Amino acid sequence: MDKSLLKQRVINIVDKMAPELIETSLFLHQNPELGGHEYKAAAYLQAAAARRGFSVQANISGYETAFISQKGTAGPKIAFLAEYDALPELGHACGHNLIAAMSWGAAAAFTEVTGEMATAYFIGCPAEETTGAKVSMAADGVFDHLTAALIIHPDDTNYLGGSSYASHPLAVTFQGCPAHVASRSDKGVNALDALVMFYQGLKPLKQTFTEETILAGIITKGGVAPNIVPGEAEAKFTIRALSAHYLENTVLPAVKRLADGIALATNTTVTTRHYEPLYKELLNDATLMHYFAENMTALGEKVVYHSTDYTSGSTDVGNVSHCVPTIHPDISIGLSLEAHTPQFALAAGSEYAQQRLLIGAKAMAMTAIDLL
Ligand SMILES: [Zn+2]
Repeated sequence: MDKSLLKQRVINIVDKMAPELIETSLFLHQNPELGGHEYKAAAYLQAAAARRGFSVQANISGYETAFISQKGTAGPKIAFLAEYDALPELGHACGHNLIAAMSWGAAAAFTEVTGEMATAYFIGCPAEETTGAKVSMAADGVFDHLTAALIIHPDDTNYLGGSSYASHPLAVTFQGCPAHVASRSDKGVNALDALVMFYQGLKPLKQTFTEETILAGIITKGGVAPNIVPGEAEAKFTIRALSAHYLENTVLPAVKRLADGIALATNTTVTTRHYEPLYKELLNDATLMHYFAENMTALGEKVVYHSTDYTSGSTDVGNVSHCVPTIHPDISIGLSLEAHTPQFALAAGSEYAQQRLLIGAKAMAMTAIDLL
């Protein structure tokens, strides 16, 4: 069948679904839930999928609020990813209510038009703002057999391309030996001194890296009382690079060598652990980007390209993009908006944003048609 005809049909279906999609987005917006606790949102989205004949499998990769819904078994397997967690006190200040509604609209429209020609997946990915369920889901192979994965994030501009940082959240704990600071018989071993040396040592170490890195951190435990030699000191860092490969093979080993060297020099012991999941950098698939841009243009939208070396933030979609060709563009829901602010939360519930989500759903479904 003619591609442009299929695309026109997904446009018509999304328009017909508009009341349902807007209701979905607003229900999530009015019932914000934190990462891992998105019970109402997950139930709402699963029910919508089931009503349209998707099989639904809940409780994925240790997340009660994760789900995989699927319609069809043949042809290319196209996944539309939903996020639906909110932020403490701010509600949907990252607009994930719109992400869920866009992906649902695209999945439903795509499968209705393609029928037996393709398989549509609508995959619920909780806790993007906290523990990043997609990291575990990717590690468990949830995305491995797919042809492509699509997800759109709301923003203040229709951005396409760019990447995100690979990140390694590292806790570093030095153990010394506590003692009274005025004791004559026991001088103790000062773990805080070791930690401060380590903290300072990171600056010259950073200069040795040939790729862009971020070594940022805070001291989270520095001792118990001023008159006690600190027996334990801990700092938490977010260590980032442009690629998970450079991060894990060059940066992290160097950081750990520095910690080990200081432990040796100060007669302390040191342990390191990652206190949150490891995020990989986002790889936007070039073919998907090409199709998506064409479809946005056809819908009357202007697309702004990020340069290939543009990087901001970190996202667990990065881990998905290492399993399957992925696209993660942005759609504008208002001018001069900063995510994670009260203004963004307001915008995500605005009438305008509910119209924008229809554009996003159409562009995603049309891009999926191109993949056929
Ligand atoms: Zn977000």
